[in-house]
Amino acid sequence: MNYLSGGDRIINYSWHKPSTSRPERKEIKNIFREIDLVTGLTFKKTKKKNDDLHFMKVDEIEQTNFMSNDCLYQDAILGRAEATSERINVSWVDYHKSNKVSYLEKYVLRHEIGHALGLSHPRGRGDHPRFSSKHTIMSYNTFSKKGYLMYYGFTDLDRSALIENWGPNAFGVMPPTDIVEVL
Ligand SMILES: [Zn+2]
Repeated sequence: MNYLSGGDRIINYSWHKPSTSRPERKEIKNIFREIDLVTGLTFKKTKKKNDDLHFMKVDEIEQTNFMSNDCLYQDAILGRAEATSERINVSWVDYHKSNKVSYLEKYVLRHEIGHALGLSHPRGRGDHPRFSSKHTIMSYNTFSKKGYLMYYGFTDLDRSALIENWGPNAFGVMPPTDIVEVL
């Protein structure tokens, strides 16, 4: 997978069309445009057999790997970025079951694409109390005390990390380990 070397600076992607809506596919393209703007990476839509990144919307994500016992988040499992020898699979759950793109979906998609491009949770912990989605899209702390979603998109910190991983002088990144998001 030349994706990981970052050598050609082109990332091929595909999606599972039946499970994704037009607005969701458009949103994925928007995210790539945002990343291209700061890193210069090119994202190219290909057939699945040639892709590096594959997107699929799912009804449910099974929690197959170990989650910490003291995890406070019981609500739902919303996203996953999983590296195989062939590609990185990004799957997400549309909590609102709508073809439109909710802010929660905008957040989950950016968070998972962040993982796929080598970003990790702040100090290794999605729920690290010192961070929120105001600091980084890689934080789980994205709901206000009243339960409102605080959506900021990619932050300055995220953009810096993306440039470090993928900017013109970067060496590329390691693939994510199988990451199941409990939110
Ligand atoms: Zn995560």
